[in-house]
Amino acid sequence: MFKVGDATITRVEETNVPSYKLRNVFTEMTDAQFDQHKHWLAPHHYEAESGRIRLAVHSWLLKVGGKTILIDSCCGNNKNKPGRPFWHMLNERYLERLAAAGARPEEINLVMCTHLHHDHVGWNTRQKDGKWVPTFPNARYVFNKPDIDYFSKIDADPKEGPAELGTFRECVVPILEYGKADVIEGAYRINDFIEIDTAPGHSPGHVFFKLESKGQRGVFIGDVWHHLLQVYYPDWNFPKNSDAAQARVSRRKVLDYCAASGALVMPGHVGLPFAGRIEKTAGGYRPDFKA
Ligand SMILES: [Zn+2]
Repeated sequence: MFKVGDATITRVEETNVPSYKLRNVFTEMTDAQFDQHKHWLAPHHYEAESGRIRLAVHSWLLKVGGKTILIDSCCGNNKNKPGRPFWHMLNERYLERLAAAGARPEEINLVMCTHLHHDHVGWNTRQKDGKWVPTFPNARYVFNKPDIDYFSKIDADPKEGPAELGTFRECVVPILEYGKADVIEGAYRINDFIEIDTAPGHSPGHVFFKLESKGQRGVFIGDVWHHLLQVYYPDWNFPKNSDAAQARVSRRKVLDYCAASGALVMPGHVGLPFAGRIEKTAGGYRPDFKA
């Protein structure tokens, strides 16, 4: 568990396994750059035998100001994930882990998705009597309008759809239809403790969540960076972006915010210890994520 002022934050893991080949993800990486960083990569951020990066998939359970908030909802069970054998047809005891972390589904007040990719919306809904219904019946779900617009268009295109491996229509559209979504656009303040700021590029509506309590700060950055190597090399994009140039600009914006605020940074996929801080250096940035 992590603390930021009076807020408590618990990581709820879905998976944490080797996934994509490092060399396929960061094609610009030189041998010299790899040699420079390999001392800290394995085992928590890279599996040397397979050459694959380790990517955690988790939610952050945030309790602050009397509210119980779930940030990002992972892949979900029994989902077809072509090209992603490590997340395909999962059968994880995620809801039991969430309960162990201190929240049953009906106790969640807010679900906040940093963006609407398939690995961030999976538990938004569950199947009941052949229908997709909200998993968290008493929650409002906060979605970003540019992502709703972007994935709606892809989903409606018979050549491109269904969007996000079908998760848009299974895990996002039902929430809209049940009237459970708060669709916001641009910077937005949720309450005294949480502010939403924009970081587009990985998807058009990608946002990050700034937390403040008792003068301490935390920040949930989603996929602004997937891997700590991107802190050292902010121009390295993870594949699959709606706008690659914009993703680089957003990464620097968020890195600057993290470094200037001293916030505890909680990314969407970084491995053990899962959270840390960012330092500004003469030439750029350095992660201070100590296992
Ligand atoms: Zn992701």
